[in-house]
Amino acid sequence: MNIFIFTLLLMFTAPAWATTYQAKQGDVLRIPAPIQGSNLHVQAFNKSWPIYQKNGQYIAWIGIHLNTKPSTYDIQWTSGNSASVNQVLDKIEVQKGEFRISHITVKKKMSSFDKKAIQRIRADQAAIKKAYKTPVNIHNSWPAMIWPVEGIISTPFAAQRYVNGHARSPHSGLDIAAPLGTPVKAPLAGKVLLVSNMFLNGTLVAIGHGDGLTTVYAHLNKALVKSGDIVQQGDVFAKVGSTGRSTGPHLHWGVHFSGAKVNPKSMLTLNNILQP
Ligand SMILES: [Zn+2]
Repeated sequence: MNIFIFTLLLMFTAPAWATTYQAKQGDVLRIPAPIQGSNLHVQAFNKSWPIYQKNGQYIAWIGIHLNTKPSTYDIQWTSGNSASVNQVLDKIEVQKGEFRISHITVKKKMSSFDKKAIQRIRADQAAIKKAYKTPVNIHNSWPAMIWPVEGIISTPFAAQRYVNGHARSPHSGLDIAAPLGTPVKAPLAGKVLLVSNMFLNGTLVAIGHGDGLTTVYAHLNKALVKSGDIVQQGDVFAKVGSTGRSTGPHLHWGVHFSGAKVNPKSMLTLNNILQP
């Protein structure tokens, strides 16, 4: 066979070349499917991710956990059935997300805890974990979010936290400074999973949005909803406060996506689809 024709044939029969995407810890990537067909499925970081349709294109949303080690990871696409399987591997190159440092000074009882406080903190954490794992029968056709409040970001996502000079876990959400009582809007339709008064988080609301997406709001002055309520995008469900371990009125906004703590900023509407 003529080498030219052979090369041409290869070009048309070989699977799509794998694409390498660049990402930072905490990013949510929107990646177009490199293959078509029935049973389209995508896996990365040992789990499946939801695929949405936009302008006729299939797009996977993949969350990169805050604690993901900087390295290169596979995105495995499959479609078809046992008789004929299509498979393509894309790659994600993950880099460190945030280098900023955040120091706060709080009352001693809010930085070194007695036995009773530790018990309460543990119970609070267990309640939040339970909310993350609660399946929610809601499907948003494209789960892009709007800001829950407008304000100044006082502590970025993933900043290294120091409380009274002691290193703590990286900041798992976004702190948005806003005046006391500012209405907090649901960034996306969902179901209220938890309303609770917590030791460190103060008044906290967790909302499930389906497809493994949960958002949490802490240090609220007031919750205007109860567990089980349904909210639509833009509905006011709480007011900004400074309850729990807080140094002034602000909203702590956290997003959890299928076990990954992700940057709320990367869920916003304006975030674009990546091109291979
Ligand atoms: Zn915070």
